Amino acid sequence: MPFEPTDLPDNILTLSLKKVVNWCRRSSIWPLPFATACCGIELMATASSRYDLARFGAEVMRFSPRQADLLIVAGRVGIKMMPVLQRIYLQMAEPKWVISMGACASTGGEFDNYATIQGIDQFMPVDVFIPGCPPRPETLIEGIIAIQKIIDIQGIPDRSKRPLKIAIEPTYRPAPQPHSS
Ligand code: SF4
Repeated sequence: MPFEPTDLPDNILTLSLKKVVNWCRRSSIWPLPFATACCGIELMATASSRYDLARFGAEVMRFSPRQADLLIVAGRVGIKMMPVLQRIYLQMAEPKWVISMGACASTGGEFDNYATIQGIDQFMPVDVFIPGCPPRPETLIEGIIAIQKIIDIQGIPDRSKRPLKIAIEPTYRPAPQPHSS
């Protein structure tokens, strides 16, 4: 069982330790890009020198789920692709977070048909939805900042014990969205 500072009781020392651990986590997010369509181009642009995602410590894209802690789903997801996406999510180590980038991933977008998932949040937990078709790189950066805020406030998401059913029936409800104060 790995050590987690959340297991410790609250006192000055352990609260400070949690803060430091969460600060490390939020400052070194390793995203896994699951880019299936045009939103993926904006995702690539976000990592380029013009937008410089490295300023937020989240530029180390990983194509192995075992090395990533932020899944960015960019683009439409077909019903046949959903079990693959779920398997990738399951293979990521805890703690992990998910961004649904763009109208297609979040709602199906203009593809209102039987073959396209009408929102990935029906099948897996999503922490932040990013609007737009496509969202600009600045909007994706805003989404990553929202993930950092979630890590700051909540620390580790408490869903490791929640089973993810690999199925083509909706199994999840949308998560409440973070909003800036
Ligand atoms: S939201 Fe728009 S830009 Fe993104 S994948 Fe769908 S159609 Fe393409």
